Amino acid sequence: MHDPDCIFCKIIDGKIPSRKLYEDDLIYAFHDIRPVAPVHFLIIPKAHIPTLSDADATHETALGRMLSKAGELAAEAGCTDGFRTLINCGRVGRQEVYHLHMHVVGGPDPLPPMIVFER
Ligand code: 5GP
Ligand code: ZN
Repeated sequence: MHDPDCIFCKIIDGKIPSRKLYEDDLIYAFHDIRPVAPVHFLIIPKAHIPTLSDADATHETALGRMLSKAGELAAEAGCTDGFRTLINCGRVGRQEVYHLHMHVVGGPDPLPPMIVFER
């Protein structure tokens, strides 16, 4: 369930400090340490699921909770007119922290395009 070497497991356990937005039995939400927009926080399952590719049916309740809480937490954080969610997965997705997390990003102004194709 927990990986002792995982920084997000340590954040859930309070061993690494975080600016917490929300916590329940299945998920934990906290502000990103390097925000890319006025609002930028992460919602993670408390279970140590390394990537979205590792998720299975046993994780459906936690994954559903991550999505169903996103709007409420985004509104509380200041997103009054929408926001963006993003889950990076694996090497190709440029995932940096291998504990599944959903970015919630927003602010007063429209965000730049999500994917910039360099040709
Ligand atoms: P990824 O690239 O894996 O989708 O995103 C990882 C995110 O975790 C990055 O946006 C990074 O700023 C954030 N992050 C990494 N380490 C920490 C930390 O110790 N505390 C917090 N609050 N965010 C972190
Ligand atoms: Zn973990």
